[in-house]
Amino acid sequence: MTDCIFCKIVAGKIPSRKVYEDGDMLAFHDINPVAPVHFMIIPKKHVDSLAAVGPEHALVLGKMMAKAGTLAREQGATDGFRTIVNTGRVGRQDVYHLHIHIIGGPDPLPRMIAKE
Ligand code: AMP
Ligand code: ZN
Repeated sequence: MTDCIFCKIVAGKIPSRKVYEDGDMLAFHDINPVAPVHFMIIPKKHVDSLAAVGPEHALVLGKMMAKAGTLAREQGATDGFRTIVNTGRVGRQDVYHLHIHIIGGPDPLPRMIAKE
């Protein structure tokens, strides 16, 4: 997708701090980390969000999830981490190219969602 910032990162048109890459996925550090470990795993092929995912995406999503633990440990999240997939308006998604946030570090994170 031409106007998508993460597609541009996949294409190398926008720089990123790469964590991992293979034919299906790219992982790179979040530009605005919220914890000592904060990177994202994205499919190389554009899909807007988890709400747009269908059976045709199951294989690549499975591969992304299957890679998360190894990459998290390599990045220093050795005792657990959080995966977040913000989806759509209600999920407060900002970048409409599906991404799994991997967030962690040495210390426990805040509880999942604060009541506003
Ligand atoms: P979300 O709200 O789940 O859509 O999160 C989008 C994330 O992308 C945010 O955490 C941003 O900090 C991150 N982000 C935006 N632009 C870039 C970029 N060029 N490189 C790395 N991370 C980015
Ligand atoms: Zn995209």
